[in-house]
Amino acid sequence: MTSPLLRLKDIEKAYGPITALRNISLDLDHGETISLLGPNGAGKSTLLRIVAGLAAPTRGTLEIQGTAHDRRAIGYLGHATLLYPELTARENLIFAARLHGVPKPARRADQLLEEEDLSPVAQRRAGGFSRGMAQRLAIARARVHKPSLLLLDEPFTGLDVPAISRLSQRLIELRNAGQSWLLVTHEVERAAMLADTALIVLRGQVAERLTGGELTPQNLSEIYAKALDLQS
Ligand code: ATP
Repeated sequence: MTSPLLRLKDIEKAYGPITALRNISLDLDHGETISLLGPNGAGKSTLLRIVAGLAAPTRGTLEIQGTAHDRRAIGYLGHATLLYPELTARENLIFAARLHGVPKPARRADQLLEEEDLSPVAQRRAGGFSRGMAQRLAIARARVHKPSLLLLDEPFTGLDVPAISRLSQRLIELRNAGQSWLLVTHEVERAAMLADTALIVLRGQVAERLTGGELTPQNLSEIYAKALDLQS
């Protein structure tokens, strides 16, 4: 039997007296996509940071492809884009490729620019990019080392409607190409439409899990509203 791409077992995270996560157990298979939905402070970003290896759980275990932790398997896009505004799009990607020890950094940068539809602006400084373009470049940056699992923390924040549609379309393309991702979002409809599974996180726990045919925008929206009502 092959191991899942990601396996979390009884993850707990405490910050002093605050328990940000409790009893989180979760498997994500190769090629699977999961949305995490929850109110502010529910623990979504903390969970992503733990999977990214940027924070350590207080208790519980995390396995990536059956091993304790393999950072190379992870691409992370957090609230900060990690782009250098004074470098061009292409230079940003070459720099990131070198940091990750990717062979032929310039070739990989050009490939990513092409895939993210950024070739026409390859020589422009990232600092002059619109929020939507910067976010696409940030996704390219997170994918530079061809991670098996992409972690996206609220990638739609600050984007206008066309940019949200474009990014959604890109996530669908990546998913269709077999890319696994974990997406944190407050956009209920996107959470339902883009992923195979949606998890509602409340007070550090997975309160609801919707998958397959039950994962429709309307269902998720109703169940989320009920879960929030019960919580308050
Ligand atoms: P949001 O939707 O606002 O981004 P979230 O669901 O991502 O919220 P987290 O940012 O993971 O929530 O926070 C979960 C809880 O842990 C909150 O109570 C938060 O204040 C706390 N927390 C998160 N990071 C830290 C930290 N570095 N130190 C102390 N407390 C923290």
